[in-house]
Amino acid sequence: MKKFEKKVWLATPTMHGDELKYVTEAYETNWMSTVGQNINEVERLTAEYAGCKYAVALSCGTASLHLATKLAGEQLYGMPKPHQGSLYGHKVFCSDVTFDATVNPIAYENGEAVFIDTERDTWNMDPVALEKAFELYPDVKLVVLVHLYGVPAKFDEIKAICDKHGALIIEDAAESFGATYKGKETGNLGDFNAISFNGNKIITGSSGGMFLTNSREDAEKVRKWSTQSREAAPWYQHEEVGYNYRMSNVIAGVVRGQLPYLDEHIAQKKAIYMRYKEGFKDLPVIMNPYDEENSEPNFWLSCMLINEDAMCKQVRDGQKALYIPEKGKSCPTEILEKLNEINAEGRPVWKPMHAQPIYRMNPFVTAKGNGRAKTNAYIEGSFEDVGMDLFNRGLCLPSDNKMTPEEQDYIIEVIRGCFE
Ligand SMILES: *Cc1c(COP(=O)(O)O)cnc(C)c1O
Repeated sequence: MKKFEKKVWLATPTMHGDELKYVTEAYETNWMSTVGQNINEVERLTAEYAGCKYAVALSCGTASLHLATKLAGEQLYGMPKPHQGSLYGHKVFCSDVTFDATVNPIAYENGEAVFIDTERDTWNMDPVALEKAFELYPDVKLVVLVHLYGVPAKFDEIKAICDKHGALIIEDAAESFGATYKGKETGNLGDFNAISFNGNKIITGSSGGMFLTNSREDAEKVRKWSTQSREAAPWYQHEEVGYNYRMSNVIAGVVRGQLPYLDEHIAQKKAIYMRYKEGFKDLPVIMNPYDEENSEPNFWLSCMLINEDAMCKQVRDGQKALYIPEKGKSCPTEILEKLNEINAEGRPVWKPMHAQPIYRMNPFVTAKGNGRAKTNAYIEGSFEDVGMDLFNRGLCLPSDNKMTPEEQDYIIEVIRGCFE
């Protein structure tokens, strides 16, 4: 089999030149710290793009989610004791199929995540399962919602349920910067919002993140916390726990150079998604779906899901995967193996959080109301859940902006070969 000389990646930074200009500017003016013109500009530009009033530049998306989570906890439950997180003793509903950076901030604040199963239309939090969760845990006041792989979740349905139960929403738009829902930008839908500029995201600073809000008070609070919670005094005066979470002006220079290319990157990602879709149209697979009427994803990662009856036998334990090849059938493990052989990078769909050893004791709720309560042992496959099904049958395809159509056609050909 022919092999790519240069690896085709899942998603890597796509630089344009202006980044270097702003980084150099930071260097030459000696603003090599966490203050400077690049930071001011990326905050202004990001807020403008997302259509929100305030943006606070932070060291990463996880830091943004952490401070969003802390802020939500304080607003709901009051100022915590110094040795306790703001969610101490409280449950939080959370997307289940996601990167663990969505959930960890709940643990940082000593809350307990209750995982909500996934729906099949957008691969995001299932409103039916969320409603079930409120029946089981009516006191919950906070929901953390992800837009997976840049595909907007069913926001209005989720928002209506949250309003009915008086719950607030943290929007994890780390993967979906630039994606819109009913014409509105993701990252400006929730009560507290976070995006990421991690190296593999659609716009990158090599690292970095942003807290987005329409509340001046919230923006000021997060800015203060992120710079060690200094009070306005001539010496270092502290009334609250602080963090070193501010974005560097050098990183901000990279983001500043990238931001004007967001729409271009989305167009490239969309073209990649559509080319896969066309290339797979007679295979027993679907692409990761979205609500074509109400949403416009940013198409950060193109994913595919193999039909149940076209799956060959595949088993995974905590570390390894095996499969038995079968004529006319395939599985994510086989496809990932073949991609690797031609020097292209794919990735399994995020393994659901409820199936992660670290969160194995947390409650999990499905649309049918089953799942598990705290302390119940979880046996994979012992009940139906959508998340585990997506993990078993789905994978992320090489989605790098710089992949050429010829390279992509070869990837498509190799994947088609898996089903012969
Ligand atoms: C990347 C990502 C994050 C974290 O962002 P970092 O900037 O890497 O800290 C959070 N949530 C999701 C869903 C992500 O994909």
